[in-house]
Amino acid sequence: MSIYADDVVNFTSVLKIAYNFLTGRDYLQKKKSKERKTLVSVASGFPDLVFAADSIPVFPIRMEKFKLNLYLLALNSATSLFGWNLTTKLLGIAKQIDFLKIVDNVLNDVINNINSRYNSLYDLAIQKNVSTEYCFGVKSIYGMHVSEANNCDYSLNFTIRCNKYNKYLKSLRALIPNQIWVEIPSMDKENEETTLEIMVNNLQKAITELENITGNMVNDNSLKKQFRIGNQVKRYYKTIIHDISTSNFYPCNPATFAEILALLTISFQDYNSNAQRYLENISQLVKEMRERINRGVGMEVSNRPRILLTPIFNGWEPEAQEIVYNLGGRVIYSDWDLLGLLEEISVSKNSDPIEEYAQFLLNSSNKGLFCLNNCEVLINSYQKYVKRTKVDGLIINQLEDCHINSACYDLMKNKIRTELRIPSTNIKFKKIGENMEQTKAKLSSFMELYS
Ligand code: SF4
Repeated sequence: MSIYADDVVNFTSVLKIAYNFLTGRDYLQKKKSKERKTLVSVASGFPDLVFAADSIPVFPIRMEKFKLNLYLLALNSATSLFGWNLTTKLLGIAKQIDFLKIVDNVLNDVINNINSRYNSLYDLAIQKNVSTEYCFGVKSIYGMHVSEANNCDYSLNFTIRCNKYNKYLKSLRALIPNQIWVEIPSMDKENEETTLEIMVNNLQKAITELENITGNMVNDNSLKKQFRIGNQVKRYYKTIIHDISTSNFYPCNPATFAEILALLTISFQDYNSNAQRYLENISQLVKEMRERINRGVGMEVSNRPRILLTPIFNGWEPEAQEIVYNLGGRVIYSDWDLLGLLEEISVSKNSDPIEEYAQFLLNSSNKGLFCLNNCEVLINSYQKYVKRTKVDGLIINQLEDCHINSACYDLMKNKIRTELRIPSTNIKFKKIGENMEQTKAKLSSFMELYS
């Protein structure tokens, strides 16, 4: 499993994002107790309003206590002594003389660590008799709140196009009584202006509530400042997905590359609770990737089909990417791009930031991708995305207990195969580590199509 570890040691940025994820609990507790910041529970890439209110968005799994592996523990001490850059250099030298045997499984360990916590939070939700009709994602987010709600002051809830998810949001009230809701209306094609107006009003209401609870004003400047940071994060994120992931030479092993994309998918949900720091790390990541490519450090991947595996943000089998890698492919994760959440929000001089944000939310919600219940729209969106990103294949991650039924997934798979003429398949997902034999068999026959 550790074949990728050597790659990671030279990516300071990845280590920082992973480190910031796993040490979130201490960081957030300090923010709350020393700086008196309000912690607001968020999910699915909607942290901007909270940042604009000078408060801290938290995807609640980050309040969990994670075990740091030895390598990250060593980093913890070394970075406080030498700073990040020098530490990475030192560890790089140590690795070359085979001194630091603990440089092992770093990113793999981090992802496994996070995933096993997802599994235990899912179990916790079941112990608490959460509705059995929820999918893995909803159950594990519920479990996160059972475990950590008392550390969050408020919860900011955006409704999406899934009744089960919205039902879960309502049930959260029992765990976090302080809630702010942002209702995203369905787009009325006949009456787009009214829909936009409703969305703007809903946002204004939420902003007023945020101002009241945090005591901080949210104005055009604070919103635009946050959107500017967010736009830059999105630009770098897209560079990785659209430029670097499509090249024939990767800055690292494609399995490491997929793990980096997985880490970005998980950490983007709350921009690691510090948007400026996240921006610095992701910009450094792009720089490090480019530098490695320019120096010829990495791996030729032109002979490996590029396979999009999606959606994963509500839970997926992380081993799948490794199976595909061992069968000669390379997996790409790009949920947030697919869902429209990497679109930039205009911050031009005369723009109204609330209206721009409202439009952004409507676009991503009504694109059909955000867990929509209209199969036809969902399929069209997937088709467009697959065509635009020119992937060589699609693996649809089909969550058990998802309200989007098997017939819809099958139709999507077949349409992509016949109309776009690229291989596609679906793998069923219930819980991490379950159903492995079936997943392996499915992926093996899928990958045979490329031989
Ligand atoms: S659409 Fe499916 S995957 Fe998305 S939240 Fe609803 S049940 Fe879960």
